[in-house]
This record gives sequence, C-alpha cells and structure tokens, in this order.
Amino acid sequence: MSIATVLLVEDDDALRRALRMSFRARDFDVLEVATGEAALTVLADQQPDAVVLDLGLPGIDGFETLRRLRTYSTAPVIVLSARDHQRDKVDALDAGADDYVTKPFDPEELLARVRAALRRASPVPTGPAVLRFPGLEVDLASRSVRRDGESLHLTKTELELLEQFVRNPGKLLTHQFLLRAVWGPGYGSESNYLRVYVRQLRRKLGDDAAQPRFILTESGIGYRWIAESE
Ligand code: CA
Repeated sequence: MSIATVLLVEDDDALRRALRMSFRARDFDVLEVATGEAALTVLADQQPDAVVLDLGLPGIDGFETLRRLRTYSTAPVIVLSARDHQRDKVDALDAGADDYVTKPFDPEELLARVRAALRRASPVPTGPAVLRFPGLEVDLASRSVRRDGESLHLTKTELELLEQFVRNPGKLLTHQFLLRAVWGPGYGSESNYLRVYVRQLRRKLGDDAAQPRFILTESGIGYRWIAESE
C-alpha cells in the first residue's frame, strides 16, 4: 500500500532513476517525466499528491511549469535547484513552490521535505485554537501567548508575524510572503522591517538565532518555524 503518489520532473535520467528507487523504497508510487510539458499533462490526468520539480528543464523551464501548474493544482511542489542559485529558490517559492532542495542532495533530505509537505497539505478541518510548543503556548482565538507559563506581551505586528509562523510549521516562508501577509500587499521588498521584527520576536520568545528552537533563518530567503507542536 503506497503512502502517496509523487511525480518526478527531472531531465537527468540517472538522477531520476535514483530518485525513483528512493521513493519506491519508502512506499511511494512514482510517476516520472523529463519535461515540463509532460509534467503538466500527467499532473492533470493523474493528480499526484506531490511534485518534485527540477528547475533546469529542456523546453519550458521549471518556473514556467510551476506557474502553469499552479493555475489548476494545489499539490505541494518541492523544487530541485542548482547550488548557489539563491534567487532561483526565492523566485520558485514566491511562484508557489512549497520548499526546495539544493543539488547535490541527500535523497533522505528530499524524502523528509516531501513527507513534511504532504503532512501540511493534508486537510485539518478545524485546527486547534491553542498551539503548544516546548515552553510556548499560542492561543490563536484570544491572541494571547505564554512563554513558560508567563503571559507574553507582543505588539500587534509581532503577534501577526508569530501567527504566520505557527500556522505554517516547517514551511519555508519567504521574506516576500511574510511581508505581504503581515504588512499588506503593497509590501514585499522591505526585508529590513522583517529582520527587525523577527529579532524582537526572537528576543521575546527567548530564541537564539545561532541555535534556534523556534525560528530558523534561511539566509537570503526567509524563515522557517522549526518547533514541533506538542
Ligand atoms: Ca535539469
């Protein structure tokens, strides 16, 4: 019994074969294609649960594939990007990718990212109003936060930022996503605002950027909430 069907979109045959074996070994059903055009057709016909998408493809590239598939699919997409193409990762995340893995990568890392994306994608009809993390309690209904049992005073902006994090656990949130979600659609490039507020929020949560328990910095890209809810 397979746990999910994943569509692999990769033009490198050897890499695709290796990925197929890793996913099959972990009980995934695997669909595979070598071009963006083929991916769009398979996606529409067979509706896989998740997509692993290489950005460098012949024909339409990974970005264009992503843009087109997002018009009709909400399946989580994990992008494979070449090393040192930071801008590509940001663009892919902003275009609707859920996460990325940099080549060359450990297949276990990719599997973990796909599993995490599938968990987030599975519908939670009514999420709990109170989220608990080690040493932290966030009540989304009353908008109150307690750290080690003590009530924490957060500004409206800090609270909204925290809410974005705890509502998207494990997901890499880009600067642009957070700025638009918290400050509004007119924002997107003011990463300095975000840095200031993340620093304040970390301080109030007692988090350490160098050894984070809650907010991990993805350098040049965004932030990720890493605490597991209890
Ligand atoms: Ca490629």
